[in-house]
Amino acid sequence: MKNILLIATGGTIASRPTEDGLAPQLRAGDILGCVPSLATLCRIDALQLMNIDSTNMSPACWLDIAACVREHYDAYDGFVITHGTDTMAYTASALSYLIQSSAKPIVITGSQKSIYDQDTDARRNLFDAFLAAQDDTLFGVLLVFDGRVIAGTRARKTRTKSLNAFSSIDYPEIALLRDGRILHYIREEKPACAPVFCGRLNPRVFVLRLIPGMNPGVLRLLLGSFDALVIESFGVGGLPCYEQEDFLAAVHAWSEAGRPIVITTQVPHEGSDLAVYQVGARVVRTPGILQAHTMTVESVVTKLMWILPQTNDLSEIKRLFYAPVAHDLLRFEGACQESDE
Ligand code: ASP
Repeated sequence: MKNILLIATGGTIASRPTEDGLAPQLRAGDILGCVPSLATLCRIDALQLMNIDSTNMSPACWLDIAACVREHYDAYDGFVITHGTDTMAYTASALSYLIQSSAKPIVITGSQKSIYDQDTDARRNLFDAFLAAQDDTLFGVLLVFDGRVIAGTRARKTRTKSLNAFSSIDYPEIALLRDGRILHYIREEKPACAPVFCGRLNPRVFVLRLIPGMNPGVLRLLLGSFDALVIESFGVGGLPCYEQEDFLAAVHAWSEAGRPIVITTQVPHEGSDLAVYQVGARVVRTPGILQAHTMTVESVVTKLMWILPQTNDLSEIKRLFYAPVAHDLLRFEGACQESDE
């Protein structure tokens, strides 16, 4: 039997009703006690790292989770992290950068309903998460939910209430979990090297959702407080060129300050391609202007937070950004960087 460590962080799975609505109150041991069949799967130790609604998750918490995995890495065959669903995709992405080349599964799960609810999805998700965490063929940071195994960098919460809350964005699911069995869609060689842990993040990243007619002055305001900017643009991507090209001038100001801007899209699927339209092509030629391609916003944000402490050189930021990590970017998208210049 494999040894798996449960790291509990809170979320609906650990919640109970209070006068003000649901709040995390159950501890790791209470959660495990609700799924006695887990004893047939693996040996489990549990620790309570925090007990928060994931609305309160932060880069500091992601560093704590990664440090916890690092501290216990050699003693366990796999890890299950219970977590609120609201920011689970951000945590899954952040951990994908903070813990790279792990040959062991690091599985994040949670539920839409408390584990004490009669119709809860919590018991199934928890069982499935341990099933994935003790599997010999799965590895790296994975999100398990509603019978799906999703790469940590590709997960997004796409439904607020239904049990199939998570989707894999522009990338196939890694596997399905059915009746206690794992059906693999993607099988890969496990990393042969030791895992690489990172203990630093720069949280000074801002996401700006473009709306028609937005005043470009907002970019200059943000330059005073942030080290990287993600612009959720329209369609395949571009920036408005009204007001005497002022958006472009504001973008140049970021470039001159040596700070990256990543342009992504508000459209849920298929990503950016700034080369298609003049409104995009003229922007992407500016040094320090990158594009997300099919990367999720959660991955773009956390990848920038991971890159920024490593370098402030724009060409090095660009190299690191376009180097695929844990399926965040398709190889040909990463290779597009030359054609962006
Ligand atoms: N607000 C909860 C959280 O993210 C929602 C959930 O877990 O489903 O912690």
